[in-house]
Amino acid sequence: MNKLDSEIVAGQLAEAGYALVDDAADADVVLINTCSVRQHAEEKVWSLLGTLRHRKAKNPGLVLVVMGCMAQREGERIVRRMPHVDIVCGPMELARLPELIASRGLPRPREGTQDEVPVHPPAGQETRGRQDGTRGRNSHVLAVAEGDLGSFPRIVQRRPNRFQAFVSILRGCDNYCSYCIVPYVRGREASRPVAEIADEVRRLVADGVKEVTLLGQNVNSYGHALGDGTTLSTLLRQLDRIAGLERLRFVTSHPKDASDELFAAMAELPSVCPHLHLPAQAGSNRVLCDMNRRYTREHYLDRVARAREMVPGIELASDFIVGFPGETEEEFEETVDLVRRVEFQNCFIFKYSPRPGTRAAKMPDDVPWATKQARNRRLLAVQEAIMKRRNAALVGQTLEVLVEGTSKKDAGKLIGRSRANHIVAFPGDPALEGQTVRVEIVDSTPLTLFGKIL
Ligand code: SAH
Ligand code: SF4
Repeated sequence: MNKLDSEIVAGQLAEAGYALVDDAADADVVLINTCSVRQHAEEKVWSLLGTLRHRKAKNPGLVLVVMGCMAQREGERIVRRMPHVDIVCGPMELARLPELIASRGLPRPREGTQDEVPVHPPAGQETRGRQDGTRGRNSHVLAVAEGDLGSFPRIVQRRPNRFQAFVSILRGCDNYCSYCIVPYVRGREASRPVAEIADEVRRLVADGVKEVTLLGQNVNSYGHALGDGTTLSTLLRQLDRIAGLERLRFVTSHPKDASDELFAAMAELPSVCPHLHLPAQAGSNRVLCDMNRRYTREHYLDRVARAREMVPGIELASDFIVGFPGETEEEFEETVDLVRRVEFQNCFIFKYSPRPGTRAAKMPDDVPWATKQARNRRLLAVQEAIMKRRNAALVGQTLEVLVEGTSKKDAGKLIGRSRANHIVAFPGDPALEGQTVRVEIVDSTPLTLFGKIL
């Protein structure tokens, strides 16, 4: 989601005439997109902002922007602690960034020189702005109101490549998992209308896109708020009809809403890829209850069994949090057991981090850091052994791979993904980027399959 927000902002700024530079040291405007999900992500931003203080001192014309969830959460505290920051812009007001940047007095790139350009006050007084100090360059702009989803200009997007694109289908989240900051920083859940999404996907496909990933914090609740019976399956059925769209993916699914109707659509629609990111978070019912996830481990295992029964070749991925308040050794072992039983293709494992303002932050963070670390390592080791075994079992099979580019580790190799989301590396001509090829798997590691093009 943050990648998409960055692409949209870069796209809008390109429309306004700005150009991307390769090195931040050459930039007139520096934007830092931020994440608040864990404290560590925020600490990295504070430290980066500290480093940028010297650059701003040398070049007072530099426009420094903090955008995203941390901007929303910390708001004015950012400029109090880091007065060299010019603009603080939450995820719901990103559409206004070009205007906010222009208000800092930087010349619009298609206009004259940097000197003697009049300073415009920020347009739109609905912004909760704080004009401290003098006007113009020395004041800060704060844009953290809840924006109107409908007005978001999502079409202007800079994709990382021609053939893959993210498309946001709903924003915000109403689930209030007790550990999670997202509902507080990304606002209430709101679905975009099917016609609008279909229109965006059609335009992307006409522009060369073959694979679309639909984004939302809980895509399974897509359509609820539209109130007309629309579901994620309805949307998938509409999009599947778009000629030229080879692959359709979606993240993230909430286990409480992963329905048979969805699995049926996945099985039936040729463009929909057999891959499901279904975060379990924990394997203990006591922990799941205190996390306010609103399902049990039995329900989770039932959904996994049903998905495997209904969708041929489906691969599953998950997120887990270790060291949630009160997690005992036995409760953690239930998570290990769940990981062993399900045999995920991939797992993202996080150490619990209390987020101020959430319900879990009121519970004592009583699992010592070293224990969280040890549980993280143990779960990773269990998962890695599973991935090693499962990938080895794929040797000899042929997979359909969309070539994403050349491997970062080995420039002689191409890298791509199968429909079920396996990462595959193989020798080949870089001109194949964006093409779908058939690859026979000849070797494997826990994370990567190696093959040869047939
Ligand atoms: N909407 C997605 C998750 C978004 S956050 C979902 O419901 O699955 C991505 C992941 O970060 C979560 O799945 C969770 O595993 C992790 N996470 C969220 N809050 C966290 C916290 N306070 N501490 C540690 N990990 C957290
Ligand atoms: Fe956070 Fe839960 Fe919403 Fe995911 S579903 S964004 S974990 S509150």
